[in-house]
Amino acid sequence: MRAVTLHGPRSIEVSDVPDPSIVEPTDVIVKVALSCICGSDLWPYRGVHEVGSAQRIGHEFVGTVVEVGSAVGSLRPGDFVISPFSWSDGTCPACRDGVTTGCRNGGFWGQPGSDGGQGEFVRVPFADATLVALPEPPPRELWPALLTLSDVMATGHHAAVCAHVAPGGTVGVVGDGAVGLCGILAARRLGAGQVIALSRNPARQAVAQQFGASDVVPERGRDAVAAVRELTGGRGVDHVLECVGTQESLETAIHIARRGGSVGFVGVPHLTDPKPISDLFARSVGLRGGGAWVRTYLPELLSDVMAGSLDPSAVFDLTLPLEEAAEGYRAMDERRAIKVLLELDSSA
Ligand SMILES: [Zn+2]
Repeated sequence: MRAVTLHGPRSIEVSDVPDPSIVEPTDVIVKVALSCICGSDLWPYRGVHEVGSAQRIGHEFVGTVVEVGSAVGSLRPGDFVISPFSWSDGTCPACRDGVTTGCRNGGFWGQPGSDGGQGEFVRVPFADATLVALPEPPPRELWPALLTLSDVMATGHHAAVCAHVAPGGTVGVVGDGAVGLCGILAARRLGAGQVIALSRNPARQAVAQQFGASDVVPERGRDAVAAVRELTGGRGVDHVLECVGTQESLETAIHIARRGGSVGFVGVPHLTDPKPISDLFARSVGLRGGGAWVRTYLPELLSDVMAGSLDPSAVFDLTLPLEEAAEGYRAMDERRAIKVLLELDSSA
């Protein structure tokens, strides 16, 4: 089978890799229909994270079950499924609390020892608990929106939940990647009033406005803080969604929050200085975040996509066949694309 593999900094190939097979009786094999490239795939791509040799990569996919282990109860061949970016057993204490990314038997696609989502087939552990199956195969035009539930839409929702977004509240969104843009949809879905998006890229500003941003702030750093305060009568916003993870973005997030406000942070932190912790204390700002509990959120978000009230598919602005994945990584690395869709199997 063919799969995207990472061989070192900025060295992406599409290679022949062994077909997966059922290892545990709770496994299924999924034939991937659509996958995509995530902003977080750029950390290993740029060499910020060490990788193994010919490491498989990617953690977002939808597709069709083609083989089931003997202990799998709820899934059968032919089911169209959405996978969260991590697998989880559904039974451990963390899973019972809904914190599926903290599963003691869980793991993440695209790590050493697991399949990557950017490939023709994936072995899924604890498949009954991990995958969400649709009652019948969805129309092809819905696949991109469904694929966003694998990570970016659910992660934007997690940022909004962690920031305690509530009806009528004012919201600031730091980060104009796919997660930040989905965070705007999530905040609106939860009833937010004013939503201020920080972005200076015209294509991303347009999607931000399409998704419900009421104001766009192109400034960065201190100037962005001043602009957001001016838009909120000097107060700052009630809820901040931090969707980048850098030192500057977290500092901006803390300082655009009103005193006593909340920051939901889902950008994987890459901080160089602990100063933001002192700033949280000084400003009485709450901070909560972590990897999104995608499997917990998936059913409610799926209902809205199927009902037509939630459509995050505009985050995809470039579609390529799997074999051209290297160009997809370059386009995202150079910020020519917000998010790249990889097409594998249009017949599923
Ligand atoms: Zn668990």
